[in-house]
Amino acid sequence: MEIRIEKTTHPKEKPDQKNLGFGKYMTDHMFMVDWHKDEGWSNARIVPYAPLELDPACVVLHYAQETFEGLKAYRTAEGKIQLFRPEMNAKRMQRSNERLCMPTLPVEDFVQAVKALVKVEEDWVPSEPDTSLYIRPYMFSTEASLGVHMAAAYTFIIICCPVGAYYPTGLDPVKILVEDELVRAVKGGTGFTKCGGNYAGSILGQVKAEKLGYTQVLWLDGEERKYVEEVGTMNIMFKIAGEIYTAPIDNGTVLAGVTRDSMITLLRDWGYTVHEEKLAVDTLMKAGHDGTLEEVFGTGTAAVISPVGELRYKDDEVVIGDFKTGELTQKLYDTLTGIQWGRIEDTYGWTVTI
Ligand SMILES: *Cc1c(COP(=O)(O)O)cnc(C)c1O
Repeated sequence: MEIRIEKTTHPKEKPDQKNLGFGKYMTDHMFMVDWHKDEGWSNARIVPYAPLELDPACVVLHYAQETFEGLKAYRTAEGKIQLFRPEMNAKRMQRSNERLCMPTLPVEDFVQAVKALVKVEEDWVPSEPDTSLYIRPYMFSTEASLGVHMAAAYTFIIICCPVGAYYPTGLDPVKILVEDELVRAVKGGTGFTKCGGNYAGSILGQVKAEKLGYTQVLWLDGEERKYVEEVGTMNIMFKIAGEIYTAPIDNGTVLAGVTRDSMITLLRDWGYTVHEEKLAVDTLMKAGHDGTLEEVFGTGTAAVISPVGELRYKDDEVVIGDFKTGELTQKLYDTLTGIQWGRIEDTYGWTVTI
């Protein structure tokens, strides 16, 4: 793929690296490439970051034909910039797009585009401890037409923003509410994809949880509302009597997280038994009461790992590990972030230097 580069003549002032937050400050440039049914992919370009012009009848605005990804670029102590398993994001986006009847960008083009944009924005990759450059590829139908069908035109874009330490004061356990009424995904649906529509449908659950003082929702399966699946933006794992349990991804309802896959690899290498199988919420709560539920943690690119200190399901409540971060949770966090920021040798070939 040939990428045309047009640099901005008005670079922005960079934000204070100590107060980046998440998703607030966009960088100077964006990557774009168009797809048309007669021409395929064309006009790959890196251009100054600017608002988009869209026809009000544009398909995405009516039928939410949109997919996205999320990954990060990390600056090592020596000043190198590296990505973490970007080809996994590229492949996952292809699976999302196939489900939503959208064209797929070849894996090597996806990775090339990410690398090229990060290279142009290298001064935006922050260096303060635990900061990184968050990269958001996304794609949507741009055709102006109100008919429901596969569109003739799409645009793929990548934007980036420097993001701060997720836990400025160290890992901080969260309280999670098990949602027993609303569902996020059903078999045959779009649960395994990263599409905007999944999120639109989940905000009500999030609002309910926040009103009751919980940080996130734990979704149950859409058919029986009996088995634990995942948290809003994270996969979730449970350590019960020394073994690890997490929902399977072959059902089509749970997102195949890059962090999930990396944690499972580390855990198995450390000798843990990892069960990728259905776990009933009743079994989970029972383990919480009889003392065998040792640790619970969410996994995802944004936070890497999010310890869970409390779970509520209907009128039942369990506190996990005295609301403190578990030993294994901490070890997983230290190891994975160690590899990502280049503090620990990457023996898995996960990191890609830019
Ligand atoms: C992105 C996402 C995750 C985490 O995936 P990672 O690749 O680890 O960042 C988990 N669940 C949902 C619903 C997601 O959208």
